[in-house]
Amino acid sequence: MTNLQDQLHRPLRDLRISVTDRCNFRCRYCMPAEIFGPDYAFLPSDKILNFDEIERLVKIFVTLGVKKVRITGGEPLLRRDLPELIARIHRIEGVEDIALTTNGSLLKKYAQPLAQAGLSRVSVSLDSLDDERFFEMNGHRGKVLTVLEGIEKAAEAGLQVKINMVVQKGKNDQDIVTMAQFFKEKHHILRFIEYMDVGNSNGWRLDDVVSKKDIIDHIHQFSPLQPVAPNYKGEVATRYQYQDAQGEIGVISSVTDSFCSNCSRARLSAEGSLYTCLFATAGTDLRELLRSGQDDAAIIKCIMNVWETRNDRYSDERNEQTIAKRKNSKIEMSHIGG
Ligand code: SAM
Ligand code: SF4
Ligand code: SF4
Repeated sequence: MTNLQDQLHRPLRDLRISVTDRCNFRCRYCMPAEIFGPDYAFLPSDKILNFDEIERLVKIFVTLGVKKVRITGGEPLLRRDLPELIARIHRIEGVEDIALTTNGSLLKKYAQPLAQAGLSRVSVSLDSLDDERFFEMNGHRGKVLTVLEGIEKAAEAGLQVKINMVVQKGKNDQDIVTMAQFFKEKHHILRFIEYMDVGNSNGWRLDDVVSKKDIIDHIHQFSPLQPVAPNYKGEVATRYQYQDAQGEIGVISSVTDSFCSNCSRARLSAEGSLYTCLFATAGTDLRELLRSGQDDAAIIKCIMNVWETRNDRYSDERNEQTIAKRKNSKIEMSHIGG
């Protein structure tokens, strides 16, 4: 195995694979309905990597140090036969962990087959327990109860479950404590995500971000918290434990306390472009290499070159100038996944 390091001495450990750019939700912070409307040009199916191509790339990435794979999207459960892809990845020697990020709307149906195929963990996005607010945030597409049923089925199927809540000021910050209390009782880890300036469509403003500090202070008042050491180097969430020892929460603070120095994640978009940052403006086309009959050595050389020249640290450097510089040129979150 080659141990790659980028320009900032970061290894390549995780691969996030977006299996579709489509979604059945229209969360305003990700795919606002007025932009991702009926005429939006999603990728045609022949432009999306097929399972043979994804499997081949995962095998290659494993030789370069990847140990963990996360399947994402768009909404990954819209991809037909996803359990088959999970089973194929599960069989690859060197893949230690397969996780999935989903909006949970179809999880009730797929939790069991996904677990059987070798999925170990699932992160389910849920921004509120209040139906009206949730409905408003997801573009009037998903119901709280459906997601909660999916979460329950995932736990029953033996999957490790975490919940992701994007916090937006004035939209769902009143739900922080209710969500924390609910998932503490359910024994699921809830992770709060600071609202980020991903893509070009969500009209992000710093004023709409609720900081990690404010989230923690808020929860601390109803149930005191204490910080916990990360499970491993590069963990994206800062962990906190309830002082009464029942459960923990996490905060993903890309805006107010960034963690680029530990970023070991490569991202593969649905059409097979490789990105090394969530805020990238350009990727490297691996599909062309696959479809033009290049051998593994050529693809490995290309990926090594991308990783070894990588110096992304967008969140560490975020300021008015860097925001302005990438205005309208960032890749959409639904395209490369979270
Ligand atoms: N559709 C799936 C879902 O929602 O879980 C997977 C893809 S989604 C792009 C991955 C994660 O990114 C979700 O947890 C979502 O809440 C988060 N996300 C999307 N846009 C975001 C934004 N502007 N700021 C912070 N998190 C965001
Ligand atoms: Fe879809 Fe996930 Fe984006 Fe919401 S966050 S629009 S569920 S891809
Ligand atoms: Fe990694 Fe880019 Fe996020 Fe920094 S901003 S943690 S480099 S994805």
